[in-house]
Amino acid sequence: MGERGVSLYVHLPFCVSKCRYCDFNSWAWTGQDLDRHVDAVLLETRRRAADARPQTVFLGGGTPSLLPAPTLARLLDGLHETTGFRDSAVEVSMEANPESFDAETAAAAREHGVDRVSIGVQSLRQEVLDAYDRAHDPAQALAAFDRARRAGFTRINLDLIFAFPGQDPAAWELDLRRVLELGPEHLSCYELSFEPGTALTRLRDAGRFPEADDDLLRLRLFESTRLQCAAAGLRRYEVSNFARPGERCLHNLAYWRNLEYIGVGAGACSWRHRRRRRNLERPAAYEAAVFAGRDPLGEDEAPDARTAAFDCLMMGLRLEQEGVSLARVSRVAGADPRELWPEELDRLVAEGLLELESDRLRATPAGFVVLDSVLQRLLPGTPV
Ligand code: SF4
Repeated sequence: MGERGVSLYVHLPFCVSKCRYCDFNSWAWTGQDLDRHVDAVLLETRRRAADARPQTVFLGGGTPSLLPAPTLARLLDGLHETTGFRDSAVEVSMEANPESFDAETAAAAREHGVDRVSIGVQSLRQEVLDAYDRAHDPAQALAAFDRARRAGFTRINLDLIFAFPGQDPAAWELDLRRVLELGPEHLSCYELSFEPGTALTRLRDAGRFPEADDDLLRLRLFESTRLQCAAAGLRRYEVSNFARPGERCLHNLAYWRNLEYIGVGAGACSWRHRRRRRNLERPAAYEAAVFAGRDPLGEDEAPDARTAAFDCLMMGLRLEQEGVSLARVSRVAGADPRELWPEELDRLVAEGLLELESDRLRATPAGFVVLDSVLQRLLPGTPV
């Protein structure tokens, strides 16, 4: 992927229901007109991404697999007509959830240009899926993987969540083993986080779950996950992501490398020409703006040099082996991190949390497991 290339993110905001832990821009589908919504997305794409020739494409959400197969096919055809992605993209990913990823949807995705699918499995335990309020059961998750393979997908990611309060580490390790036995090319294992405003956070605050503040347990799960994945041939390359050789997610690598991307759809973010923007989040407001001929812009900002450099470090240091090129940060932000944080970077290196090898700044193994607190020390506004 080239530094000058652009990626395309397409957001489809509807889900069967809202999961308890979710703070994404997702909305329970209650009969909204999905064809009309796709029309709006295609119209916005024509206005903002014509001839973009993206190097990667990602259909995310929300639940893209909620679209009926003919609607999904129409979306993909329309995106190609506008952007030329089938001739330019090295990877076209789509998120799918087990309850809606039927054989027709899988076939439509594959036939109309998607070559990588990411399935939201989250857990193979019914009690954990119930606690998350997920709309599928373990059998549906396994069937979705099978359908993806039958449809011809040779690049499959499975999303999992670990560290549910009170989770028995042995139960997680067993789940992980069963998932690895399926033979996915890529795994994303996210630690459960309690985001402000989610139903899960309200339940925790009401005392419904045991205290989850057990750093040792989290470290054990983090390390055992890495070891189990490595033994199955999937190497960790980002805090939460594991891949077989040649199977890293190129679209997400574009984010972590701070390359440019155009986001279309409700609430989608973009990073282009040194500006960040976010679309209107409510699907109805988004559609109304697009159909009225207006830009569905919600927020737009040009970050100052320190913020832009921090964003590059925050994303790039997540890449375990690769880290971040300081020359690249300087080009993106317009200032060298060594001049922005002259003492703090030296201190972090001296403390063995970061290492600098020619132009590459990386977290050391000790720094990688406390990356959040490392970044906290560089946060714009933090006294240095
Ligand atoms: S399926 Fe995904 S996007 Fe939809 S509500 Fe659940 S976690 Fe959020």
